Amino acid sequence: TTPRSLPLRVQNLRKTFGGITAVDDTTFSVEEGSLTGLIGPNGAGKSTTFNCITGVHTPTSGNVYFKDEDITGLEPHQIANRGLVRTFQIARELEEMTVLENLMLAPRGQLGESMVRSVLPGLRDDVVEQETELRERVWEMLEFFEIDHLAGEYAGNLSGGQRKLLEMARALMTDPEMVLLDEPLAGVNPTLEEKLLERIHELREEGYTFLLVEHDMDVIMNNCEHVIVMHQGTVLAEGAPEDIRNNEQVIEAYLGE
Ligand code: ADP
Ligand code: MG
Repeated sequence: TTPRSLPLRVQNLRKTFGGITAVDDTTFSVEEGSLTGLIGPNGAGKSTTFNCITGVHTPTSGNVYFKDEDITGLEPHQIANRGLVRTFQIARELEEMTVLENLMLAPRGQLGESMVRSVLPGLRDDVVEQETELRERVWEMLEFFEIDHLAGEYAGNLSGGQRKLLEMARALMTDPEMVLLDEPLAGVNPTLEEKLLERIHELREEGYTFLLVEHDMDVIMNNCEHVIVMHQGTVLAEGAPEDIRNNEQVIEAYLGE
């Protein structure tokens, strides 16, 4: 078999906040079409790594490559435009909008001005056509995540699990190739958890690439084909789930939590 390409490469990534080193010389890559897990005890630097990859933070040093392009230090919408997104918690102002509105606005919010600009100077027919296309995609997304019955509900009224479905649907509205999920199952009941994981596997079969941070070790071990372990800002180990499960350094790192 030919080796799969590496859409995401993180090289010698470092991020400090004042005197705190959150990420320290982290290097790893994620294979195209894989569901890769990123684990590690609390404070290991997982979220900071996600934020450096997706442009929320500017790395102190090191580089991030997506599909062989250096995307280090680009703005989140520029990175989203290239096909790499992370999920975000539904912000306060979005809670006061309906689920439908949240999805209608998602591409504009995450892709920056690009889409708004493409609508503004257009002829009236183009505008109508684009709105219709967007609306169709929104309904497809609602049905895919089985939240179409909640289209008219305010996002602020959703349960924890329903919110997570909406967060993922919002990220997918940008039509990405790779999605970073930071604890997508936190506060999700077992029924919805299963539904979300099923959706992730389906999307993966369609060719999406996922990097998943999740606290529940069993979820990572049962769903990911490759696991990267971070500890104290750096990569402690990586490999197949069964190797990680029995890795003594990893066990020790978690015992210290
Ligand atoms: P994880 O997601 O693995 O739990 P984080 O990336 O959130 O870890 O945090 C790594 C370390 O960086 C922690 O010590 C945390 O307190 C610190 N940290 C994260 N974000 C900031 C910030 N904005 N300012 C200061 N310290 C931060
Ligand atoms: Mg975190």
